[in-house]
Amino acid sequence: MKLDTLPRFHLAEFPTPIQYLDFLTKKYQGPAIYMKRDDLTSLGMGGNKTRKLEFLIGEALEQQKDTLVTAGGIQSNHCRLTAAAARKAGLDCHLVLNGTEPEVPNGNLLLDKIFGAKVHFCDRKDRDERLFQVADELETAGKKPYVIPVGGSNSTGSVGYVSAMLELANQMNDMGFIPDAIVFATSSGGTQAGLTLGGKITGFNGEILGISIDQIKTGPDPFPPVLTQITNATAERIGSDIRMTESDFSLNCDYLGAGYAMPGDLEFNAIKDLAHHEGILLGPVYTARAMGGFIDLIQKGYFTNDQTVLFWHTGGTPELFAWADQCHRAFG
Ligand SMILES: *Cc1c(COP(=O)(O)O)cnc(C)c1O
Repeated sequence: MKLDTLPRFHLAEFPTPIQYLDFLTKKYQGPAIYMKRDDLTSLGMGGNKTRKLEFLIGEALEQQKDTLVTAGGIQSNHCRLTAAAARKAGLDCHLVLNGTEPEVPNGNLLLDKIFGAKVHFCDRKDRDERLFQVADELETAGKKPYVIPVGGSNSTGSVGYVSAMLELANQMNDMGFIPDAIVFATSSGGTQAGLTLGGKITGFNGEILGISIDQIKTGPDPFPPVLTQITNATAERIGSDIRMTESDFSLNCDYLGAGYAMPGDLEFNAIKDLAHHEGILLGPVYTARAMGGFIDLIQKGYFTNDQTVLFWHTGGTPELFAWADQCHRAFG
């Protein structure tokens, strides 16, 4: 497998820890709950994009690029980590963010500014076009831009989560348990593609269940074909013969609530649960929605209490500060 020889730029210390969530397990009396702490990847407040960026930046450096250009929502964790990673790699960073510039930036947007990224604001509908426009402008100005798609979800970025699955296989070996399911937040698909492919490679037989945060974020296509496409392109990239079809993916779209980045009771209850029972923080957009969905599935009997489930924490905690008003109302 070519995975070990692909260009990779070191951004963080791995493996990330796995913890048993004793109080949460007891509270719901369902499966034994473990958590994989990718919120603790050691770069710029952590999160799942770190693993993708190791391979994306590896490729950018190999192609002798000097500027990273990417896009996302105004509170994008992906954009914040791209800004941080750019600094560690000695690259410039331009971000195309959809939304209106607030008077005082907070959360991820504040961190983008602290990392010194150049931010371009635009409407959601213009975002994809603006991304390539900014890259063109940089090229005209004599720079060498490297464009990273939304969420870093392509065949290069997803390799990060194939590698994460190999990391988990080693940890499971050391810890002496194999979860019956892995549950996590899925959005642009790169994480799920990498985990599902990595699961196949390592012979993992459990369910790899993505809780969809924003079903249609990647564009007009329905989500499962996008997942399949990214997964098969990733397999090809690492020299694996594995090919997947839509039925190889486990996807739950029942928790989309009021829409992307519109947290409600489900999310705030999950934030409260994890904070009060485990001292662990979740982000309102992704991980709280996924955890809220996971808890709801436990309560509906989707898992049995002789099972073990690993919740893969994908980060996003800086979002909390951008939703300070609602958090304050929910907890204050
Ligand atoms: C981006 C992100 C996800 C989703 O990952 P994808 O690879 O885009 O599906 C989940 N959680 C957090 C905190 C994220 O920032």
